[in-house]
Amino acid sequence: MDNKELANLIFPDAKEISYYEEKYPERNLKEGAIVTRYAPSPTGCVHIGGLYQSLVAKKMAGQTEGIFFVRIEDTDQKREVENGVNQILNALEDYDLSPDETVNKGNYGPYIQSQRKEIYQSYAKYLIEKGMAYPCFCSQETLAKIREDQEKAKERTGYYGKWTKCRNMPLEMAAEKIKNGESYIIRLKSPGNPDKKIKHKDVIKGNIEFPENDQDVIIIKSDGLPTYHFAHAVDDHLMHTTLVIRGDEWVASVPLHLQLFYCLGFKAPKYAHIAPIMKEENGGKRKLSKRKDPEADVNYYKEEGIPREAVTEYLMNIANSNFEGWRKGNKDKSVSEFKFELNKMGVSGALFDMIKLLDVSKTVISTYSAEDIYNSVEKWSKEYDKELYELITKDKEYSLKVFGIERENAKPRKDISKWSEVKNSINYMFENEFEKVTEFEYQKINEPEEIKKILTEYVENYFDINDDKQTWFDRMKDLAEKLGYAREVKEYKANPELYKGHVGDISTVIRITLTGRANTPDLYEIMQVLGKEVVEERIKRKLLKSDHGE
Ligand code: GLU
Repeated sequence: MDNKELANLIFPDAKEISYYEEKYPERNLKEGAIVTRYAPSPTGCVHIGGLYQSLVAKKMAGQTEGIFFVRIEDTDQKREVENGVNQILNALEDYDLSPDETVNKGNYGPYIQSQRKEIYQSYAKYLIEKGMAYPCFCSQETLAKIREDQEKAKERTGYYGKWTKCRNMPLEMAAEKIKNGESYIIRLKSPGNPDKKIKHKDVIKGNIEFPENDQDVIIIKSDGLPTYHFAHAVDDHLMHTTLVIRGDEWVASVPLHLQLFYCLGFKAPKYAHIAPIMKEENGGKRKLSKRKDPEADVNYYKEEGIPREAVTEYLMNIANSNFEGWRKGNKDKSVSEFKFELNKMGVSGALFDMIKLLDVSKTVISTYSAEDIYNSVEKWSKEYDKELYELITKDKEYSLKVFGIERENAKPRKDISKWSEVKNSINYMFENEFEKVTEFEYQKINEPEEIKKILTEYVENYFDINDDKQTWFDRMKDLAEKLGYAREVKEYKANPELYKGHVGDISTVIRITLTGRANTPDLYEIMQVLGKEVVEERIKRKLLKSDHGE
């Protein structure tokens, strides 16, 4: 019996690897084009770290006219979650990170590993034929015993060197066991020598040196599916990946991966290992965790209504430290024009800062037109806040005016960071909602008689909805003067004893009466949108209440 016969016994139906080599030819791309991928396991919620990796990968492919593809790594079927694949693809689509190739499109598929079983088996067969892989029959008990012996002898644990029971098993004996139906797995016959070092230049982490791998790792499991390591080598070879961008928890596997590429006779890709996104906790840093941090799940941003541009813009900020500077100088440009450099990514994990993200979001939202805001809020509220949806869609024209307040000008308002804040920032603009306001917390001027006087004078003699902004403000000053308040704040500050207060105190009374709040965007614009009737109505209602002693 020779290796070839053994290989045939194990994988009788597997095709020659030349079949796949021809089926998946070199890609026809221009010089320097990067082919990269995001290779998630469908294990539940999509982690913000996955979005971060995809963003970087898509950017690298995009700016070199390369290819970004998504491969689903579902060989660990115990961990799989129903609908996991759709969740991942939908999340990428939501963030404008749709891949060039994936599950349903592309010539290098299937892009789901569980559908590539025969491919892996062909390559495993090829290694067995060459005497570079072998079946291993060790049971869990045998492996536990090996481990125990290693610990006793204070030696490294694992399946390597002299501990490899099945590595040198006579082929006839292996064939016999297989024919008898014994359960087995396939292991790599590692050619590595750990006394030798392997040098590797990571695109992000720089030069790294590791001892060579000498573990006879499993390449095909007892269910016939490959391990992650083996699938990685086969897939990234056949899909012609030139640059593997992945989480840095895989750095330690590089010696094994390079060895697998070497044994299979493949050219290895380059690697860029990305440090995870971290969170500050009790003065220390830890990885952002799906279990502990709601913001680790990409759905969180959707539910809160943080626009996708804000999230990607923020992730760019933490990915490349020079992005922020570029953005300042290029306010209107699309992120696609920014040249991303992998070697400018931090070697240690970037800190996730929600306050900064919301700040970025405020800036992003400030660039939206009233129409953009309306559309986004409509879409968001339809799913997450029915009341708000009813409120804004009842009269779209009016809502557009509300969203237009202090917007689309040189210095647009910057007070909204997410759609879930919108209701609270606009509800006083709607009569039904405003009627619910019962507490008016007047500020400096708070005696009912004085308030009544100001409001009466204003509505009877100083309010005209047709005034332009300057006239409106001048009249407010006239009113101030008439009632014994300074026309200007600075006049008041120079001689406070001469006045009861200043024009700002007067306008605050009107603002609170009309909105129920002391802080709002521009009062003139608010009044213009509310319109004559509503302004008068709100003031009269207040006067009526004060006549009733409320
Ligand atoms: N399936 C692996 C993971 O989810 C992918 C690692 C890789 O990109 O090679 O971490």
